[in-house]
Amino acid sequence: MADLTRLTAAELSQKLQAREISSVDVTRAHLDRIAAVDGDIHAFLHVSSAALATAADVDTRRGDGEKLGPLAGVPIAIKDVLCTFDMPSTAGSKILEGWVPPYDATVVRKLREAHLVPLGKTNMDEFAMGSSTEHSAFGPTHNPWDLDRIPGGSGGGSAAAVAAYEAPLALGSDTGGSIRQPAAVTGSVGVKPTYGGVSRYGAIALASSLDQVGPVTRTVLDAALLHDVIGGYDPRDSTSLKDPWPSFADAARTGARDRSLKGVRVGVVKQLNGDGFQVGVRDRFAESLEVLAAAGAEIVEVSAPNFEYAIAAYYLILPAEASSNLAKFDSVRFGLRVNPKGGGTVEDVMAATREAGFGPEVKRRIILGTYALSAGYYDAYYGSAQKVRTLIQRDFDAAFERADVLISPAAPTTAFKLGEKLEDPLAMYLNDVTTIPANLAGIPGMGLPMGLAPEDGLPTGIQLMAPARADVRLYSVGAALEALLEDRWGHTLISQAPELAVAR
Ligand code: GLN
Repeated sequence: MADLTRLTAAELSQKLQAREISSVDVTRAHLDRIAAVDGDIHAFLHVSSAALATAADVDTRRGDGEKLGPLAGVPIAIKDVLCTFDMPSTAGSKILEGWVPPYDATVVRKLREAHLVPLGKTNMDEFAMGSSTEHSAFGPTHNPWDLDRIPGGSGGGSAAAVAAYEAPLALGSDTGGSIRQPAAVTGSVGVKPTYGGVSRYGAIALASSLDQVGPVTRTVLDAALLHDVIGGYDPRDSTSLKDPWPSFADAARTGARDRSLKGVRVGVVKQLNGDGFQVGVRDRFAESLEVLAAAGAEIVEVSAPNFEYAIAAYYLILPAEASSNLAKFDSVRFGLRVNPKGGGTVEDVMAATREAGFGPEVKRRIILGTYALSAGYYDAYYGSAQKVRTLIQRDFDAAFERADVLISPAAPTTAFKLGEKLEDPLAMYLNDVTTIPANLAGIPGMGLPMGLAPEDGLPTGIQLMAPARADVRLYSVGAALEALLEDRWGHTLISQAPELAVAR
């Protein structure tokens, strides 16, 4: 039998529905792959002991003739920021080590209701703060293309798991790029949906006005299939949108079939390319624009002058919200409790717990955020950042008058070396220069592979952005672009990985 770990979720779905394969076969193949390669990659913090039983249950249901959704029986990896009642949920932090939540995040509940098979929980930067997964309290994840390099972050575990064929699908969360940037540097596809399009209930909060949960996959169609499962209104999330959503999978299928972009206005954002971007990234991006134009797209240049201030505004808004969200880790309600030597007051216990339980990046941001929100500085910092946020939203509004989708590289460089930026927080923050604006405006964004950089042979990613609630455009245009690039190169984008550092 062909290696089941090499198939896309859409292919697995077809074979499962035709009963050519069983979910137990598929799940076992992925568990074996995890056992074989995850010692090198460390994409997983926890591997589920229930996966095979869940798979067997799906097979029984199918055997009984139950009507099942398209992804029933397909395994999935889940970022450890999402609460799962049957597995620890640590958000990559010592302060939550071993904590098993009493409930599932809404997106996880939806996975179970659609009969996907959770494989385990994936590694991440602590509380999703970072761009390399090196801030995980449980050790870094390694990029499957080159084990000495970072897999992106904060969701490096989810991206590495799909890129290394340990899982066909994964869930991530994206506050400033944590789905799209890891996708870019591992050659995978990642989508940050419109803010409010996917429930945040049960997603351990980083910055609540920016966080969105979304798919991490190897193809655009797989992302669409997964988005169809996790999206939609949730009364438990006060920011959840009540919109009816079209089928993203249908849009992806049509886009890939037609391969036509006639009449689609594609806006190239001037500020999200150029100086500071790696040569190979810029070359691949230029090639992608040619491909889009040849398929009939109208390429227009758009300018978003306030994007220059996006990182600065983000690193005030995010720490401000994070400092407040992380106040609940107080040693009383859940997770770690450290009793100071010789006893002490409740405050002493809280201080000792937070001192021992949080890593340096988390402490840095809590201090920054507390300062930015303090009386006397609030207007100067937090207030100004919110004004910049409005200006960035207006830049997007103006750009979308002239373009149906916006486009940029998904990350300025290919994967950098482990350790390279760890001691330099500002250098780390700059990796999200292309992705942060979409979070500040609440609009959807997709990262997808655009080929290897000639100078280092590593994956590069392209980003598509659409107006709020127009996620469907990402899938039609993204699937068309993916198909066009594959036509040009004569192979699927992920199979450009002949040299995956882990055994094929
Ligand atoms: N790298 C960004 C940060 O450190 C984005 C994180 C995220 O999207 N969760 O904040």
